Amino acid sequence: MLYIPVIGLEIHVQLKTKSKMFCGCSNQGEYEPPNTAICPICTGHPGTLPVLNKEALLFGLRAAKALNCKIPNQAKFDRKNYFYPDLPKGYQISMYDMPIGTEGFLEFEVIGAKKSERDRARIEIERVHLEEDAAKNLHAPDGSSTLVDFNRAGSPLIEIVTKPDLRTPNEAKIFLQELRAIMRAIRVSDADMEKGQLRCDANISIRRCNDDGSVIDLTLNPKVEVKNINSFKSVERALLYEIQRQTKLYESGDVLKYDATRGWNDARGSTEEQRTKEGSADYRYFPEPDIPPLDLASLRDEVPVFELPAARRLRFVEEFGFPPADARIMVDDHDLADYAEEVVSELKEWLAALPEADGTADEIYEKHKAKLARTVSGWLLSKLGGLMSEHHVSMKNLKIDPENFAEFITLVYGNKLSSAAAMTVLTDMLLLGKDPSQIMEDRNLGQVEDADALTPVVERVMAHNPNIVAEIKDGKLQALKVLLGIVMKETEGRANPQLAEKMLKKKIAL
Ligand SMILES: [Zn+2]
Repeated sequence: MLYIPVIGLEIHVQLKTKSKMFCGCSNQGEYEPPNTAICPICTGHPGTLPVLNKEALLFGLRAAKALNCKIPNQAKFDRKNYFYPDLPKGYQISMYDMPIGTEGFLEFEVIGAKKSERDRARIEIERVHLEEDAAKNLHAPDGSSTLVDFNRAGSPLIEIVTKPDLRTPNEAKIFLQELRAIMRAIRVSDADMEKGQLRCDANISIRRCNDDGSVIDLTLNPKVEVKNINSFKSVERALLYEIQRQTKLYESGDVLKYDATRGWNDARGSTEEQRTKEGSADYRYFPEPDIPPLDLASLRDEVPVFELPAARRLRFVEEFGFPPADARIMVDDHDLADYAEEVVSELKEWLAALPEADGTADEIYEKHKAKLARTVSGWLLSKLGGLMSEHHVSMKNLKIDPENFAEFITLVYGNKLSSAAAMTVLTDMLLLGKDPSQIMEDRNLGQVEDADALTPVVERVMAHNPNIVAEIKDGKLQALKVLLGIVMKETEGRANPQLAEKMLKKKIAL
């Protein structure tokens, strides 16, 4: 018997506004001592009145727009009532039946899809709404006590609910990664799952299907909501685990009768039973009397338009010539993507300024785009990326400005630097912030392009290695590489290898 999973996600994204949702307290409370970023409003003192932070609303609308949602003319806040130590008011201000966005969708390429699976997915977004975050309970390791830090109470969140359109755990993971990239691109959240800025609950049920994959019965079976998922990897693992667990239950005739809630235990690699899911009736929702309904019609035009990751990736591939996998890495981090974009623009200027330039900046780049883009992404992602992680440098405090990096690429591309010398120059650029030509001069690292300067070295190397020269003359052409290696070593990697090889061949009379 074949079963296929039906997966939907509920995602919370922390908005990086300056202040909290309904008061002036700092929204950076996670970096401050416990219970210092608080006031009577966010700790729910009687008689206080919430005032909506317009920035939070605009961020929410940005997200709704980026997820292709319809933005209604009006939205309203409601009270969601429940009792828990992390909820000082005894209710959470959320949105029930009038959210800020409905009927959206997100389309993405399913990287790593198996042959039998779709390679593009379109997931419907049911709704996007705003709500305030709860405080944080901190449990003593020995279970003796629980402390509450209210710094997070009242921080703005958006909740995004998908339709159950996801078909595989891999799709769920990629959906979340795409969502993270979008939230970063529209500058509303850093959406880091490990830091709790992007949190996800996954709903999953399975249903029987025929061998060809067609569904036998369209009714959805009771679902399990999996909580405590805090990394992209655990989304995938938790869903795989649930698919296996539910399949076993159905095969043994022990079908699920009710919706259930289970928590993901990352260390054990399993889900564990939690309280039964409450229906919305249990929350006794009612309209928030202290905040008037929101007029969104007048705000829609204030929402700025951002280039979304999918469009930017396409542009990086088509306009700049980056390999698709490299474009993906760059666009996932918008600081890196902005940097790469500036490097390309500066690089065009450098190329156009070369004496051998034969056209406008754009024409020259277009003509050599594939090779130039590979040079940029290779040096940017693997070489500079490697050096940055080795020296604990982030994009934010990188001393190499795009203009200097573009000059560096021009030197590498024009064979003015051997790859060994280029690594030295790049390391100095990273640590000292100087421009590459200055470093080359200081360290005497320029490539030796001059045959007159190379002649004595080539002659000396030949004189010191008569056996190798003899082997080459005997027809062992591989030995030429050995000789060339010695020339490169003697010049500390500065000889132009093509030139040195040509000179060796000529002198040995090949
Ligand atoms: Zn406050």
